[in-house]
Amino acid sequence: MTDMPQTEAEWRQKLDPEQYQVLREAATERAFTGKYWNAKAHGTYRCAGCGEELFSSDTKYDSGSGWPSFYQPIQLGKVAEQTDTSYGMARTEVRCANCGGHLGHVFDDGPNPTGLRYCINSAALDLEEEG
Ligand code: FE
Repeated sequence: MTDMPQTEAEWRQKLDPEQYQVLREAATERAFTGKYWNAKAHGTYRCAGCGEELFSSDTKYDSGSGWPSFYQPIQLGKVAEQTDTSYGMARTEVRCANCGGHLGHVFDDGPNPTGLRYCINSAALDLEEEG
């Protein structure tokens, strides 16, 4: 993306405060408060930071967690995973592979066909609806 911010100051200008806290500071929005946890619309969920395509509504499911949940990314390599040991837990953090923005975490209690649950903050996503 040509307009990718180069500094944290530029990210602060581009993003609203909640997006900034999630994407750049790895904050977690409160469950059942985000704009997409209960969204049913069809389309493509893009990174709210850089616009990269991250998840399809075809893989979104109701996990009951209060965060938008997907069983796989839209394409291999679009999300990067790394170990997160904050808060005394060993979790796998997922980030946008393009801009490095924090998205959420992935857990192994998801549905078929992958068994994975990508638990993503609404604030990190921007839904491009189809049709
Ligand atoms: Fe991104």
